[in-house]
Amino acid sequence: EAKDLGKNRYSFYESEFTEKAEYRFQVEQHLREAVEQRQITLVYQPQIDIASGEIIGVEALSRWYHPQLGHVSPIDFIKIAEQIGLIKPLTEWILQTVCDQMAVWNSEGFSDIHTAVNISPDHFLDKGLVSLITETLETKGIAFDKLELEVTESTVQTNAQNLSAFERLKDLGISVAIDDFGTGYSSFSSLKHMNVDILKIDKSFIDDILTDEKTQVLVGSMIKMGHNLGYKIIAEGIESHAQLQLLQRLQCDIGQGYLFSKPVTAKEISTILGSSY
Ligand code: C2E
Ligand code: MG
Ligand code: MG
Ligand code: MG
Repeated sequence: EAKDLGKNRYSFYESEFTEKAEYRFQVEQHLREAVEQRQITLVYQPQIDIASGEIIGVEALSRWYHPQLGHVSPIDFIKIAEQIGLIKPLTEWILQTVCDQMAVWNSEGFSDIHTAVNISPDHFLDKGLVSLITETLETKGIAFDKLELEVTESTVQTNAQNLSAFERLKDLGISVAIDDFGTGYSSFSSLKHMNVDILKIDKSFIDDILTDEKTQVLVGSMIKMGHNLGYKIIAEGIESHAQLQLLQRLQCDIGQGYLFSKPVTAKEISTILGSSY
């Protein structure tokens, strides 16, 4: 009987594996077309100044709905886009769309907010990235300090040769944030090598901040250390008032999470900005 069970388990895992491989194949097949035909859209999640309660910016996040595949998570399609050479054209389109959107918000009178765009580690390697960004901002008439880039700590590993991109961006006044901070293998090393402006403390820390004493100490220390190094601190994935209150006490600067708003359409952002928050 034990043998049967083992066999069943094996076939369960095997079919799960086949399903995953099949899904990946499907995503790959359709992704190229999706990028070419602009089937990928952007949603925006507000970032709130914790002290004043004001929206100071938004993060642009990609969404893909495919008629047969349904909603595909960006965690899946971004990884595949990186692997099959689509991340550059996709990010180029994202930057253009974000700039067009910022121009619309400007025309509506909301010119104070910044927009954050996620940049894949490998793309940061690309020699042309900084000029792509500056040309796009210039063409669309967007001030350099209104764009923020989010990169993960793994950028340090893949990117040792091109760490000068951080300096060039800083000189231009384009802010860079370390995303998912604290989850990489060498958070201290990333602080040493990446010349950034903002640390985004990963949601996994915020999830446990009320229930785990150690996590609370770690987050408090990250905030203090970050401030001592001259960074602004964003907490991502805030879902409750209690979490917000604690982060306020720990002097976290900026909050992002479902407590304030899920990622929404650009139109909805205009509405939120128009009404006092
Ligand atoms: P990320 O950059 O760390 O983005 C934050 C993720 O957390 C988003 O998931 C957001 O919807 C989610 N989130 C925010 N607040 C909360 C909350 O309070 N509770 C919960 N449960 N989730 C929250 P999303 O949009 O699914 O994106 C996942 C990841 O995919 C992103 O993580 C980013 O790494 C990647 N990604 C998304 N769009 C892009 C893109 O345009 N380019 C690149 N390179 N990566 C992207
Ligand atoms: Mg991000
Ligand atoms: Mg993040
Ligand atoms: Mg994350």
